[in-house]
Amino acid sequence: MNRKTIAVIGLGHGGLVAALKLQQRGFAVTIFEQKPRDAVGYPWYDDIRADVFDFCGLPMPPRDCYTDKGKRLFISPDEQNSLRVPSGKPMEEISIDRRALLRHLCALCEDAGVCVRFRTEVDSLVVKQNRVCGVTVDGKALPFDLVIDASGLFSPFRAQVPASFGVQANPRRSDVMVAWRGFFQWTPGTQAPDPDRNIYIKHQGSVGLSWCNLNDRGEVDVFVGRIGGLSPEEKDAAVQALYRNHDFFSDVPLRDGQWGYISLRGPLGMMVADGYCTVGDSAFMTMPMMGSGIEAAMKAGLWLAQHIFEHAVTDFTAANLWGWQVRYYKELGARYAFVDMVKRWVLNIDVDLLNWLFGCGAVTNEDMGLVSTDPDNPYRLTAGKIAQKVAIVLQKPAVIRQTAFRMLRAANAKRTANAIPPTYDRAKIDRWLRRYNDLLKNEA
Ligand SMILES: Cc1cc2nc3c(=O)[nH]c(=O)nc-3n(C[C@H](O)[C@H](O)[C@H](O)COP(=O)(O)OP(=O)(O)OC[C@H]3O[C@@H](n4cnc5c(N)ncnc54)[C@H](O)[C@@H]3O)c2cc1C
Repeated sequence: MNRKTIAVIGLGHGGLVAALKLQQRGFAVTIFEQKPRDAVGYPWYDDIRADVFDFCGLPMPPRDCYTDKGKRLFISPDEQNSLRVPSGKPMEEISIDRRALLRHLCALCEDAGVCVRFRTEVDSLVVKQNRVCGVTVDGKALPFDLVIDASGLFSPFRAQVPASFGVQANPRRSDVMVAWRGFFQWTPGTQAPDPDRNIYIKHQGSVGLSWCNLNDRGEVDVFVGRIGGLSPEEKDAAVQALYRNHDFFSDVPLRDGQWGYISLRGPLGMMVADGYCTVGDSAFMTMPMMGSGIEAAMKAGLWLAQHIFEHAVTDFTAANLWGWQVRYYKELGARYAFVDMVKRWVLNIDVDLLNWLFGCGAVTNEDMGLVSTDPDNPYRLTAGKIAQKVAIVLQKPAVIRQTAFRMLRAANAKRTANAIPPTYDRAKIDRWLRRYNDLLKNEA
């Protein structure tokens, strides 16, 4: 029997996990990565849950490439109050060297026989008779039974999928955080700051976040992210403001700062087409509040492979792949659609009201768990807790006006995402897609 062939575009976390699992099950997988081997990823550390490796049936990466993660402390725009995301167990979440993680996943793939082609840019999808059936590289069409698009947030390939499938083409400006991250020396002799990760919400009145923290390696980690755009001048002003406020932040850079783009929206409405599916940032699989997408991409890659072998899928039609998307929505996507709405509310709310909310007691540290990445967090908003909160915010009618509507919309987004049709009924899917896309589109 001919082995089914699968192309993965981009050496991303989700594509790598799917590639490994599918290769182990007898598929012939090729990964195309445009960058050279040693330039993939970024020279920094990302936060992920440690149990994602166990979850995906993968060995832990080498011990020297991760440390325990500091907890997040959100700071109000006036810097007078803060809210802490509840602590998990030590090593529950880790801070991991991005490049070492990608090397680890890539080595597992290559050992399993996946063909990884570095310095190889995919030009376009090959589409015949309404079906994706390969990729072009250097002007040459290469046939594949399935193409997994893991090429990141600005994937040009979504737009090449036949329009009838409804794979949306591009994120809006308001869906993307433009970010700059730099690492500096710690000023000798200064006191080590709070070990928790300080995150300034609406830093300097912006629609975005900044942080300035000391990491476990003794480096000052500086991040400036703004939704919709960040000019070099705005970035410099924010870095200067952080520099003035933190004694331990020296002006000696350790390496060049990097610019990046983070998806901050609910998941893509349609992730599959005949011969095609998309994982990771190209399917907007990040946590909309934090932009953490590695764990979601890895899980989505695992579920994709599991779906393919549990359902003995050999003809990679949208209908046969749809069950995978449904699983993603049920396990993560619907929750992320909710968080998307909450985030848009937090970032667009009036600064004075946000300052008041940080200090008034209506939002507690435990509530912050609702927007953390932990799917097992047992914290729930009970009727009693909601009543207490309502009693507090009744003091400020403006909060009620700005909050109630947004919270109802957030709940509605989750309900709508959860109502994803369980089977591939195109008429039902199109109706659901319209409702779901409209909800996201109508949010500022
Ligand atoms: C500043 C910043 C901080 C972040 N922090 C965290 C964090 O702490 N925790 C977390 O979980 N996530 C974090 N993220 C998000 C995380 O980076 C992504 O969600 C995750 O990497 C999944 O992305 P991806 O693999 O889908 O895409 P990408 O990482 O964008 O990878 C896509 C790959 O595809 C390749 N490619 C693109 N086009 C082509 C083509 N035509 N041909 C061949 N190859 C191609 C690219 O070169 C790239 O290697 C952060 C992101 C940024 C920018």
